[in-house]
Amino acid sequence: MNELWNRAQKVLPGGVNSPVRAFRSVGGDPIFIDKAKGSRIFDKSGKSYIDFVGSWGPMILGHSHPQVVEATKKALEKGASFGACCELEVEFAEMVCERVPSLEMVRMVNSGTEATMSVVRVARGVTGKEKLIKFRGCYHGHADAFLIEAGSGMVTHGEPNSKGVTQGAAKDTLLAEYNSLESVENVFNANPNEIACIIVEPVAGNMGLVPPVDGFLQGLRNLCDKHNALLIFDEVMTGFRLSSAGAEGLYGITPDLAAFGKVIGGGLPVGGYGGKREFMEQISPLGPIYQAGTLSGNPMAMAAGIATLTELGRSGFYQELDNKSLALTQRVLDGVKDLQIPIHLQQVGSMFTFFFQNGPVQNFHDACQGNDEYFAKFFQGLLARGVYVAPSSYEAFFMSAAHSEEDLAFAGDAMIEVLTELAQ
Ligand code: PLP
Repeated sequence: MNELWNRAQKVLPGGVNSPVRAFRSVGGDPIFIDKAKGSRIFDKSGKSYIDFVGSWGPMILGHSHPQVVEATKKALEKGASFGACCELEVEFAEMVCERVPSLEMVRMVNSGTEATMSVVRVARGVTGKEKLIKFRGCYHGHADAFLIEAGSGMVTHGEPNSKGVTQGAAKDTLLAEYNSLESVENVFNANPNEIACIIVEPVAGNMGLVPPVDGFLQGLRNLCDKHNALLIFDEVMTGFRLSSAGAEGLYGITPDLAAFGKVIGGGLPVGGYGGKREFMEQISPLGPIYQAGTLSGNPMAMAAGIATLTELGRSGFYQELDNKSLALTQRVLDGVKDLQIPIHLQQVGSMFTFFFQNGPVQNFHDACQGNDEYFAKFFQGLLARGVYVAPSSYEAFFMSAAHSEEDLAFAGDAMIEVLTELAQ
């Protein structure tokens, strides 16, 4: 495996195609995955791991789900890409719009980043204003406008801002504190009539899991209405995961526009953005806001999305998934309650984070107070026992429908064992 890692580092920057894969903050060499099935991933040496990363969220049904594989294969056999209209993209868009109340129209793209950067363009285009508010510690992908004090890999690698982002791009991104309406109000007041939109992870998952406090999302809705700005939910992580209508369904707050990724494509490269018809009709070819994509609406990706959403539509799906997640986290909390180690769980449905600090964690500043050394040991201890979690303390664990009771018992006990060792 080391040989593969050596080869990788010669031809891929840092050996990877996305920074957090490099294990920099937890130490050791990354594992190379050969295949994945159900709740498990298998490395090149054949060792298997119970997987709580799920490709960073998409694999809500588990890996290589038979219906998703079948649908994708069938689509591939008919042609990998047409760059022209096909029935699957219409069917998929209908399905997505039917499930998410804020979506009257949707445009498919190829990644979460593409969805968020495009949806902000729409917000700027329809309001005629240029500035956006984002929250410290929220990650919205790697477009220039978002690489200002972002979470996920940016914070894992201690890089609050990326080189290469121009002053021009950075000056239009205004920062506020997650869960503080006062900080948002202050930004609005300091920039009267200049703010096009707020973009927010309605449940933050990129500084560890940080839920919105009571009234925060409603407060954002009110502030946007008051200041004629659009509210954008970045549901790339939460969409079709926290409920069939994502976080907007869970909290009952309707944004003007929303961005999706991850689960929506069942593991294939898909993103999507949408919202009110009056805004979406401003996009080319109907209107003056340009956005396009050679592979957008790709038939394999649409087929995988349809198969995934069909399974998610099964009655009781989310309840079962949430129950499993609670069963695991409760087992761990019970097992570690007498340990002399600061550990604090935050959880919304099938997303959760164990913070190595006292809670609550409500914003980016809080999230940075965790003990990263403990986390690195927690990660390595789990990896050695065959449990794979995100190689960074600033991420969430993701449960899938494929995790069995045995998996959860095994993983829960492994977590208790590692934490007990850590506390000694
Ligand atoms: N938005 C959120 C909330 C995310 O978590 C991510 C990725 O983790 C993105 C956007 C970017 O998505 P992608 O990595 O597919 O470009």
